[in-house]
Amino acid sequence: MALLGNTSAFDTIFKSEFMNDELTNKKCYIWGAGSDGIRVYKEIKNLIQIIGFIDSDPHKKGSKIDECNIYDFDHFKKLEKGAYKILIATSRFEVEIANKLQSEGYERDIDFCGYKKFYTAYNWLFQQKVYSSFVATSVTQKCTLSCEKCGHLMPSFKSPRNRPLSEIKLDIDAYFNWVDQVGTFCLAGGEPFLHPEILEIVEYIGQSWGKKISMIQIVTNGTMVPSEDILLACKQYNVTITVSDYSVSVPRLKKSIDNLVNVMEKYDVSFLKKNPTSTWVDLGFPKTDNSNMTEHQIIDFFDQCNSQCRELYNQKLYFCSIQPHAIQAGLFKDDVNDYFDLQDYDSSKRIKFLEFDQGYTELGYITFCKKCNSFASPSAKIIPAAKQTRDRIKL
Ligand code: SF4
Ligand code: SF4
Repeated sequence: MALLGNTSAFDTIFKSEFMNDELTNKKCYIWGAGSDGIRVYKEIKNLIQIIGFIDSDPHKKGSKIDECNIYDFDHFKKLEKGAYKILIATSRFEVEIANKLQSEGYERDIDFCGYKKFYTAYNWLFQQKVYSSFVATSVTQKCTLSCEKCGHLMPSFKSPRNRPLSEIKLDIDAYFNWVDQVGTFCLAGGEPFLHPEILEIVEYIGQSWGKKISMIQIVTNGTMVPSEDILLACKQYNVTITVSDYSVSVPRLKKSIDNLVNVMEKYDVSFLKKNPTSTWVDLGFPKTDNSNMTEHQIIDFFDQCNSQCRELYNQKLYFCSIQPHAIQAGLFKDDVNDYFDLQDYDSSKRIKFLEFDQGYTELGYITFCKKCNSFASPSAKIIPAAKQTRDRIKL
């Protein structure tokens, strides 16, 4: 989305219909009756009236969450237009659901809104707080696997390094100068447990910034079992270890993942073991070339992608996590349009931070989109997950 001249894009949208009535009078349905929907319901049920849930899964129709019924979309369509709002509580299907609602004549930010945008706007307008739903920082360029289509481009690093603790601390401190609360703060890699100072990193985040973080997350590929002191620190600072399971492509991982799960259970560490992943989206870098798109087409392409993966690197907040990895690997030029510079905090620019975090850039997209397939169909390319390679990405 492009910035709107001198007007604050954020104010323009959120002082519009979705946010301007008394929140407590607003009658809302939550679209998504899965774990995301339930979490959202718990967070906002005291802010607005939740009338019910909508879900596309016919098996859920007729059941309840708390006192709220789950309906299908046909139920909502029969209601008086404008009398009820929809909050979309699933980032995975948000674009698909938004497109469906728009095709039925409902207007974005008036009749419906993505939950994360709503919660960010709510915090800003009613609490004067800067809330962001997600940010990651990659602590290492090293990995124990070598996935051909790695979204962080690990096989393309010629001399992968662990990022120094001092550099990581600078990034984290710069970020929290701007942000009052973040939903998830993710430590990623490569494989984060390869970093020799991962214990110090966890302790630093927990001690210095834990109060501003709803969930500290470490994403691992399950090839390593962290030492006891790391596990104890994870427990102390409520870190959730998320295990990506690539055993479909790499069968030997099953044993190491089972082993890791046993150890995390033993130490009572919070963890989330994902189901085995068999497919990925191939973002297509560096072969993809979208330079033939018009400016209007690339803005729409960026909006449809709806990437949720903000990434910290070099005291900058990048909109999309693949880009800083391409820059670090020397495969892509940095561009001032594509990041928010976190140095030199200025309270008058907090709204600019929020706008960037919500996807408002000078160009209306990020320059990396010209080299990317996007996460959204129809351009997204589905491929087998985690196919191993030793080749480097060549330009
Ligand atoms: S496990 Fe694969 S996808 Fe994950 S960081 Fe390592 S190389 Fe990339
Ligand atoms: S199209 Fe690619 S580069 Fe652009 S936001 Fe989506 S994933 Fe990121």
